[in-house]
Amino acid sequence: MNPQELIRKKRDGGEFSTAEIDAFVEGVTGGAWADYQTSALLMAMFINGLTLPEQNALTGAMLNSGEILDFSDIDAPVADKHSTGGVGDKTSLLIAPIVAACGVAVPMISGRGLGHTGGTLDKLESIDGYNVNLSTGQFKKIIRKCGFALAGQTEKIVPADRKIYAMRDATATIESIPLIVASIMSKKMAEGLGALVLDVKTGTGAFMRKESDARKLAEALVATGNSFNVKTEAVVSDMNQPLGKYVGNALEVFECLSLLRNEVDAQTQSTLDLSIELSARILVLTAIDDSIEAAKLKVKDVLESGAALEKFRQNIELQGGDRKICDKPEILLSKDLLEIKIKSPASGYVCEINATEIGRAVSEIGGGRSKVGDKIDFAVGYACEKKLGEAVKENESLGTLFCRTDAQAAQISAKLQTAYKIEEVEPPENYLLIKEVID
Ligand code: URA
Repeated sequence: MNPQELIRKKRDGGEFSTAEIDAFVEGVTGGAWADYQTSALLMAMFINGLTLPEQNALTGAMLNSGEILDFSDIDAPVADKHSTGGVGDKTSLLIAPIVAACGVAVPMISGRGLGHTGGTLDKLESIDGYNVNLSTGQFKKIIRKCGFALAGQTEKIVPADRKIYAMRDATATIESIPLIVASIMSKKMAEGLGALVLDVKTGTGAFMRKESDARKLAEALVATGNSFNVKTEAVVSDMNQPLGKYVGNALEVFECLSLLRNEVDAQTQSTLDLSIELSARILVLTAIDDSIEAAKLKVKDVLESGAALEKFRQNIELQGGDRKICDKPEILLSKDLLEIKIKSPASGYVCEINATEIGRAVSEIGGGRSKVGDKIDFAVGYACEKKLGEAVKENESLGTLFCRTDAQAAQISAKLQTAYKIEEVEPPENYLLIKEVID
């Protein structure tokens, strides 16, 4: 099967067989396909789409391009969650210890932040000494000892995605549901999972702005996961404002530790609520509990008893980090930052928050990266004090920016102020955190 034939077939709206998709993925991974041929086929796939059998074949071929982890020697159900990315989205740091405390093994392979969204690996690296670069052997050993491990993707996991994703990024072919599904699901299934919960975000800080698009992506992800016998469920969740209170690496770890220590307030409540929901869904999918209500009670129990915090403490120690932060989360907070209040320009109600702008602002002061490999300032960030629907007075603080220089303070605080829309009329109360569940 030569590349030209396959490109022509998809260009003309044809449907690929599994063998044809395998030939494409092998050709790309092995280097037999030139980049211009790969790009041409990706564009044909982007324009003409893939059927569900093609989407599944692509996922399978990408999955089989590398190592697939095997946890058959672990006497626990193996599950994970994946988020499509948002601002202040830190639930992985709560869900992993919570479900591990309930008896689930969690091999969480995570990514780094890019653009306006943060990445779990960067958040973890704000913990002094924490090592996310684990070999497969170390990864499994840590899971055996404390129930979960958090690490970056090794070269051996889904090498096809590394090449295909880079090519999609360079050819404006990222925003294709079947290509997104194959990319996400091949990487998640390489973790050797029995169950997966997906958090598909929608709103001003999400990849999918429109709820109808998020639903379509969620349905496609769930269809492929279940086709591979991984029990898969998706939650479409709100990203019309940052999740919880903090945006910024060390600040987000601080928020999670506070919640694991049962210190919750009005701003951090949404982080806790979403983490409880997603954790409970994992417990039902893995048959640890038979109803969401029972699972939520179990989750609350391991939070209240401190069992989830203890799991996190064990994990931090096993991954080389400073476990003292579990007793004193304030160690994470730098004292060398400027604290700038972002003042409301008018009295009224918070009617809109552009979460992408908040994520970008934090990235611009060093909290994120604009290109792969940029160095991160873990300490900087933003605290959201007023959330959607709240009343605010002129000059009252909407949030606090933690930055390094006066120039950043001036430039970024102006940007942050324009991320908020304050109106006189109270908006209707329709801020549903969980919009839909797709199973
Ligand atoms: N995240 C991924 O891992 N792949 C995509 O294609 C899009 C988002």
